[in-house]
Amino acid sequence: MSQFWSQLVHTLTPYIPGEQPKVDNLIKLNTNENPYPPSPKALQAIRDETGESLKLYPDPNAEILKMTIADYYRVETNQVFVGNGSDEVLAHAFQALLKQNKPLLFPDITYSFYPVYCGLYDIEYQTIPLTEAFEIDIKDYPVECGAIIFPNPNAPTGRLLPLNAIETLLQNHPNSLVLVDEAYIDFGGETAISLVNHYPNLLVTQTLSKSRSLAGIRVGLAIGQAPLIEALERVKNSFNSYPLDRLAIYGAKAAFEDQDYFVDTCQKIIATREQLITTLQQLGFKVIPSAANFIFTTHPDFSAEKLALALREKSIIVRYFNKPRIDQYLRITIGTDAENKVLCDVLAKIVSTA
Ligand SMILES: *Cc1c(COP(=O)(O)O)cnc(C)c1O
Repeated sequence: MSQFWSQLVHTLTPYIPGEQPKVDNLIKLNTNENPYPPSPKALQAIRDETGESLKLYPDPNAEILKMTIADYYRVETNQVFVGNGSDEVLAHAFQALLKQNKPLLFPDITYSFYPVYCGLYDIEYQTIPLTEAFEIDIKDYPVECGAIIFPNPNAPTGRLLPLNAIETLLQNHPNSLVLVDEAYIDFGGETAISLVNHYPNLLVTQTLSKSRSLAGIRVGLAIGQAPLIEALERVKNSFNSYPLDRLAIYGAKAAFEDQDYFVDTCQKIIATREQLITTLQQLGFKVIPSAANFIFTTHPDFSAEKLALALREKSIIVRYFNKPRIDQYLRITIGTDAENKVLCDVLAKIVSTA
């Protein structure tokens, strides 16, 4: 604390990201990164940019990347917003669109950055409990609200809300913005981007950090009707004109263009996920159905916190949340097949020798 802090800073409770340990040889299954490298074409595009052009500012509008994304999703370029990771895109959306005169709604168990943005931007919010089975029930979302946000699939549960439920939610709330955070949609869900042209109240965000293995260059995007994008541009251009550097613009563009690599790596992760679920069930774990690159699991006979510590002793790190309703669960990111085998062997040993 310091006398020089603003009043706002005194009130903030910042988000705590999963740890990025400095030691090698860890099996790192705690932050939902992709276990495979980025597309070789994306890496080449990034290398190609590391020349004298770096003395110049990048295109503040990242037009070439927006055009690629617009092409990919068959929308207009003015329906695409890009930012420095989807966390930044979300931050701008909170300020530009989710701050209204009535409370913002989101699930009680969800991405823990949402309440942090509410604190930063002084947004009133109300959490809506997931069902016992950790599902979003759209009937629980009152019509009277400022706006709605949730990840789909949800984090950290991995559960998917089907597209028809999202469409019903949009129809039930024609006067409220609904933001669908699709950080994990490529691992088994169907994107809501197909609904954007029918619903002026829909904004979809995505990231290149998970399914495109580019967490290190920080690129996120939003797609919605042009007036929503304009709101985001207004905030962005009042904050930082150049959120995407040259490496990010060209790396992200090449990643979107390498469809084969993207499909191949996503399919591998999905196959590994299904193997992991089968093994965990054989070991007595209960696993929440997942459409993401992680699973959420609990064991009736073992404390989740102790399991996380036992795994750590074997150099495997997973995510444990000491929070109501989920303090007996572990969130485990899907690794490579080799990492998955080590994880399963270690868990089998822990479960059999206790
Ligand atoms: C990882 C994640 C993000 C942020 O992704 P970045 O683009 O890396 O900032 C946003 N929402 C959810 C639900 C996430 O899990």
